[in-house]
Amino acid sequence: MLILGAGGQVGRALQAELARRQIPGWQALTRAEADLADPESLRTIIRARQPQVIINAAAYTQVDRAETEVALAMAVNAEAPALLAEEAAALGAVLVHYSTDYVFDGTGTAPYAETDATCPLSVYGRSKHEGEVAVMAGCRRHLLLRTSWVLGRHGHNFLRTMLRLMAERPQLRVVADQWGAPTSAELIASTTLDVLAQMDGQPADDPRWGLYHLAAAGSTSWHGYAGEVWRLAAARGLPLALAAEADILPIATEDYPLPAPRPKNSRLDTGRLRSTFGLALPDWQQGVRDVFDWEMDKQ
Ligand code: NDP
Repeated sequence: MLILGAGGQVGRALQAELARRQIPGWQALTRAEADLADPESLRTIIRARQPQVIINAAAYTQVDRAETEVALAMAVNAEAPALLAEEAAALGAVLVHYSTDYVFDGTGTAPYAETDATCPLSVYGRSKHEGEVAVMAGCRRHLLLRTSWVLGRHGHNFLRTMLRLMAERPQLRVVADQWGAPTSAELIASTTLDVLAQMDGQPADDPRWGLYHLAAAGSTSWHGYAGEVWRLAAARGLPLALAAEADILPIATEDYPLPAPRPKNSRLDTGRLRSTFGLALPDWQQGVRDVFDWEMDKQ
């Protein structure tokens, strides 16, 4: 098993989960060891290692910067997955690839199913969508897992940003009209390995290969998510400049302009994943609590 993007939130969680399950026979490569923007060296790495499973946890994830770094976002998120799919198919390997709620435009309030039409609003969303199409077309034995609002034990995420800001500022303004499910990298990693275990050795014509939505249960806004972080921090007795939850003020997307537009509805319907593989997905609050507790225990 070859993991790409070893330094990211999901890449690190995958390694921790593989180690916890004592699964042997995997290698994880960082960007310095396998650069998805360098197709020739990526091809050489894969041909030399001949993995049976490739998990691509690497991505260009800087949503706003992608608006101006279009070529790099496309190289990493669209062209590299196409290459991975081609190489995986040639090896008879499985390709696991992650994608995002940002492939949707976020209209309506119903959770998106895998069968719903995509319509990305941003360069990042477009690049991820092109990667999806390439993976589905290039390698039949693929698991394409769309997730949302990732928070992990390592790396930058909203939970960590909120903890920092709540320690510094007496008041915060947080977007309250974008809805989704914060999903922990640890949940993504453990679900990936559960699904892979069920698909081990399955032929290319098994109908269970394909696209799945993978997110924690329930949904909230960024404002609701910030409130949850505040309650966890207050219950721990952390020294906070932000004295009351009511000091987290709800604002509209339009009041917090960013270069890349975001979908207002990022809810993902996970029914297909749950029914196909018999998996239960915990509420988003559990993942937030787990990452928060880990952060506290680390200190
Ligand atoms: P991170 O940003 O935490 O990790 C991405 C990793 O990709 C980093 O380790 C980064 O390297 C690496 N990377 C970037 N460019 C390259 C490159 N050219 N070659 C090799 N590696 C590269 O992302 P997540 O773990 O959160 O995301 C995992 C997957 O989930 C991605 O496919 C992402 O699109 C998707 N996703 C993420 C969401 C989120 O909220 N984060 C939401 C929805 C989907 P380095 O460590 O050097 O920066």
